[in-house]
Amino acid sequence: MYTIEGETGTWETVIGLEVHAQVISKAKLFSGAATEFGAAPNSQVSLVDAAMPGMLPVINDHCVEQAVKTGLGLKAQINRRSVFDRKNYFYADLPQGYQISQYKDPIVGTGEIVLDLPDGSARTVGITRLHLEQDAGKSLHDQSPRETFVDLNRSGVALMEIVSEPDLRSPDDASAYLRKLRSILRYLGTCDGNMEEGSMRCDVNVSVRKVGDTEFGTRCEVKNVNSIRHVMSAIEFEARRQVEIIEGGGSIDQETRLWDPNKGETRSLRTKEDAHDYRYFPDPDLLPLVLEDGFVERIAATLPELPDEKKARFIAEYGLSAYDAGVLVAEQAKAFFYERAAKGRDPKLAANWVINELFGGLAKAGREIEDSPVSAEQLGGLVDLIADNTISGRIAKDVFAEMMETGQDAGAIVEAKGLKQVTDTGAIEAVIDQVMAAQADKVAEYRSGKDKLFGFFVGQVMKASGGKANPAMLNELLKKKLG
Ligand code: ADP
Ligand code: MG
Repeated sequence: MYTIEGETGTWETVIGLEVHAQVISKAKLFSGAATEFGAAPNSQVSLVDAAMPGMLPVINDHCVEQAVKTGLGLKAQINRRSVFDRKNYFYADLPQGYQISQYKDPIVGTGEIVLDLPDGSARTVGITRLHLEQDAGKSLHDQSPRETFVDLNRSGVALMEIVSEPDLRSPDDASAYLRKLRSILRYLGTCDGNMEEGSMRCDVNVSVRKVGDTEFGTRCEVKNVNSIRHVMSAIEFEARRQVEIIEGGGSIDQETRLWDPNKGETRSLRTKEDAHDYRYFPDPDLLPLVLEDGFVERIAATLPELPDEKKARFIAEYGLSAYDAGVLVAEQAKAFFYERAAKGRDPKLAANWVINELFGGLAKAGREIEDSPVSAEQLGGLVDLIADNTISGRIAKDVFAEMMETGQDAGAIVEAKGLKQVTDTGAIEAVIDQVMAAQADKVAEYRSGKDKLFGFFVGQVMKASGGKANPAMLNELLKKKLG
């Protein structure tokens, strides 16, 4: 349990996250303008997005499908009828003067998400709701010393706001939540989950209470944190800050704060606004969104196998540990790779090679699984050579390193370098004789009772064979000769 030792007792942290996930869609939520990342400023702005008088929003079906798909992936209730509201506020980069969002009647209601925690355990966390809303534009303050520019490319882009229950209790919980949510969104193809590009942003709500208390404390909301690491640091900082204030006799003001990654602290931005400050009201330009019969069922039929189900299947079908299965299903491409490499082979041996050698090698080379120099079939070929004793696991590591470098097949490398395992009894015996002759004094020591030297001889013989002697045969023959 994650706790903070204060002067007056032990404190617990309570966290709820609001994630803004940009919907994967070629067009915006209420206009046909493009959404591509990195386009020249104001090159993807329709008259609707610029809020010209008389323009009318038209809902983009695809964004609705994406929201429903995400709701289904979160095992959530889908609301057949939902309502778009105007949330009024003034920002220079919000030309409408309001954001079209959903308030009382969101498209998706309560759902759940399973956290895979660092200690291997799993826990279910509640999802409160998911609603659709528009993104705002972006003010650029750093282009000129005297002026601020506005880029409206993002204005009107579809976002899903996904709100969690205050069920998280530590920075690790928050990290597990975000990683799992991102994984599900990517499996579904509804958001690319790219936090650096801002397509997934997170508001972090934090409060503290004494361990054992049943009421929640007053929360602060840290806005727009853009990496999981920063979310974790912001929670740690914020929880300590609140404990110090309360223990110093003060109380927490419900406020909106900013995370400053350079200083490693949160700072007050404004006092928290309440819903009534926004003067929410149903957007008169949009009818309530009513999903026709069969709409939800049709989307449900297109859902892929999601990480939790895939993990359960890998454990049941391949006998993998929960940990290994979790690593393999974290990304869909990794899971696909594994299943191709393991096909018709020892699934645990294949998992070891995929997880330890391949993922390790890719991380070192700074590559993604999609551009792995070793294909799944090639890795499977290497596993075959180990399984049928053509090469030892030790030699296989060298072969694998060469495969990563050159992209060649395992068989070709083994052939070209003469790395085949020696399983010929006579040949191994000859090497043993050679080593024993060179180490006559050690042989005498061993025979006079120094058993520990056995490992030394194994090492010497293996080395003399160029690492190629079959380990089991080497052991057996060595025991016989020394004894
Ligand atoms: P708002 O829209 O004003 O930000 P919401 O009711 O939508 O408020 O809640 C926002 C988030 O705050 C949710 O993720 C919720 O779980 C979280 N939350 C609510 N109460 C607390 C609390 N006492 N401590 C921590 N988080 C909380
Ligand atoms: Mg909020």
